[in-house]
Amino acid sequence: MQGVGFRPWVHALANRFSLKGHVLNSTLGVEIEIEGPTASVNAFLAEFRAHPPQLAQLDDIIDEELPPGTASSFSIRPSRAETGEFVLVPPDTATCPDCLADLTNPANRRFGYPFTNCTNCGPRYSIICDIPYDRPHTTMAGFAMCPACLAEYENPSDRRFHAQPNACDVCGPWVELRDHARTLAAKAGALTAARELLTAGHILAIKGLGGFHLACNAADHAAVQRLRDRKHRSRKPFALMAASLEAVDRFCEVTAAERAMLSGIRRPIVILPAHPDVDLSPAIAPRVNSFGVMLPYTPLHHLLFAGGQFSALVMTSANVSEEPIAFRDEEVPKRLHPLAGHTLTHNRTIHTRLDDSVVRAFEDRERVLRRARGYAPRPIDVRRPLAPILACGAELKNTLCLTRDHYAVLSPHIGDLENLETVELWQETLAHMRRFFRVDPMAVAYDSHPNYATTRLALAMERVEKFAVQHHHAHIVSCMAENRITGKVIGVAMDGTGYGTDGKIWGGEFFVCDEANFQRFAHIRNVPLAGGDMAIRQPWRSAMAWLAAAGLPLPATLETVPAAHRSVVNTMLRRQVNTVDTSSCGRLFDAASSLLGLCQVSTYEGQAAIELEAIAAPGNSDAYPFDFAGATLDFSETLRHVIADRHNPALASARFHNSIAAAIAESCARIWQAEGLTRVCLSGGVFQNFTLLRRTVALLREGGFAVYLHAQVPPNDGGLSLGQAVVANARLAGPGR
Ligand code: ZN
Ligand code: ZN
Ligand code: FE
Repeated sequence: MQGVGFRPWVHALANRFSLKGHVLNSTLGVEIEIEGPTASVNAFLAEFRAHPPQLAQLDDIIDEELPPGTASSFSIRPSRAETGEFVLVPPDTATCPDCLADLTNPANRRFGYPFTNCTNCGPRYSIICDIPYDRPHTTMAGFAMCPACLAEYENPSDRRFHAQPNACDVCGPWVELRDHARTLAAKAGALTAARELLTAGHILAIKGLGGFHLACNAADHAAVQRLRDRKHRSRKPFALMAASLEAVDRFCEVTAAERAMLSGIRRPIVILPAHPDVDLSPAIAPRVNSFGVMLPYTPLHHLLFAGGQFSALVMTSANVSEEPIAFRDEEVPKRLHPLAGHTLTHNRTIHTRLDDSVVRAFEDRERVLRRARGYAPRPIDVRRPLAPILACGAELKNTLCLTRDHYAVLSPHIGDLENLETVELWQETLAHMRRFFRVDPMAVAYDSHPNYATTRLALAMERVEKFAVQHHHAHIVSCMAENRITGKVIGVAMDGTGYGTDGKIWGGEFFVCDEANFQRFAHIRNVPLAGGDMAIRQPWRSAMAWLAAAGLPLPATLETVPAAHRSVVNTMLRRQVNTVDTSSCGRLFDAASSLLGLCQVSTYEGQAAIELEAIAAPGNSDAYPFDFAGATLDFSETLRHVIADRHNPALASARFHNSIAAAIAESCARIWQAEGLTRVCLSGGVFQNFTLLRRTVALLREGGFAVYLHAQVPPNDGGLSLGQAVVANARLAGPGR
């Protein structure tokens, strides 16, 4: 991995043992030549293996003996590019404690400088234009270092030795505060003015590491509500940036594992249980008893909190609905002026835009739900060789994946490919990653849905083998790949939407599968959804579908839906006009949420299920009945009980969750009996519901199963490209080829 302070560390180590030779970055990795007495060389190697620098990721150490050289000392040589070789490009890293100390020490020349960094921290992937990673290949190329910065850069014993983005107030980038017409203030004055505006209840667009955020004081209800109105975002929770861990403690329950995630080098948004009645706007996360919280990760963020005027800011990606995050200053007038009156920006260009990553702890382990800043483009090491493959991902929450050697490199979160901007971003990301990682794919894997944008893009490619991969097969193989397991497993995919081999919409699937093939052993009962995609946005349509399928009368909770709308849907269901059958578990959750009167119209993906989970009574373990009819799992009885218990929705929600978990465990037991398989992989977006996940895992373990979950890649469609790539790799290597 380049850009993690490796060469200066090697230099210091070689000097410690009085060794001669050199170290250099090449696209192959890091090359070190050392020469000296055997004891010293061995001592060097022992220390090298035992205590590598904290950001380094050593995948392999290959050593060989060389004839004596002519070096008289140890040196750091210029980087060398090997054509066609793979190199690990480092992710962006949060400000380190040493840099934070510089930033807050009035005697230090970096005091209050919002772009300070060192070999242990700072921007990387977001500013790298090409490899090898050297300053001329970054967006810092235009800033010539002042003598003081250059001295640090050239001094092997300095923390900023060869820190490519090294800069200071004299020579580096600076911040500016602008309104729609002009620049109001620059440098320290801009930060002071920005803090005052936030304190006074203004919404600011703030250029960060990977793009612009919209920010406002999280305690200012009017400001948060105004931000909701401007973003046309009625209920989807906003992320918070809290001043410190102590501030997070005031808002949320935080475990030791979660503290480590919050304050580590990646600084994702961590989803945490919210304390009731905190001193923050209730509009931040309505109807959801959790907050997504992150800590400051750049010096600029730390400085925003330096005045102590607020303990948390709402920090949401600067975009309208699902467009890609804005990251160029040129975009500000058109895209951000309608949203924010002022912009705090700077003149360090962002080359690759990156959203904030989102994680949640399960069994004290970090589970990535959106993988972007701080994570991408660190590869997933699958511990076996993979052919060069491009996997295109799915339609929503898209990521793409390139493989080579034993690595799968997932792109950062790209978004929903429903608008032209996002499709262009997908193409740009592919071009970018092909250049960085030197991958020339021999095969392309894509979702078998005929109408996905990625399907069209894949089919248009030339000179590559093409593999259509069933959506849920990709989900399960993604889980297998990151757990490094092979062979036959039980795959449980509980999901929203995925195209099935029978042309129906799947999403409640029990597979017996390996990496190349799958067999659909069982699935949730098909119900007819009226109105296609409209049904995803209107959970009451799922409720009507299940009521019709189960022969249940309309409960009073659905009477809030206009009678005219209901009767249109009833006619469609009766005549089977514009309906599509689905076995989706996501739609089953929608139905339950609607039947309890929680959510009839969904304003963001997963809203009905999220609001259903939020009210579930804790500590409840009883379940409602469900039925097996051959290979189909029928929840008609379950929903009949949900309706009967609707006056106690907390209890009904808990029991509903437990019923799905029990049905999953029962289905797996049947597969064990039939096929003798005991390994279960859980995947699909529904498993972002940790109430369901916790119960399912507990029941499966009680039943004697080995359970495999996602951690490094999301269980939602953001992890799909990894599975697609591994399926294509298995088929390329398969029998008959
Ligand atoms: Zn640092
Ligand atoms: Zn300088
Ligand atoms: Fe999916």
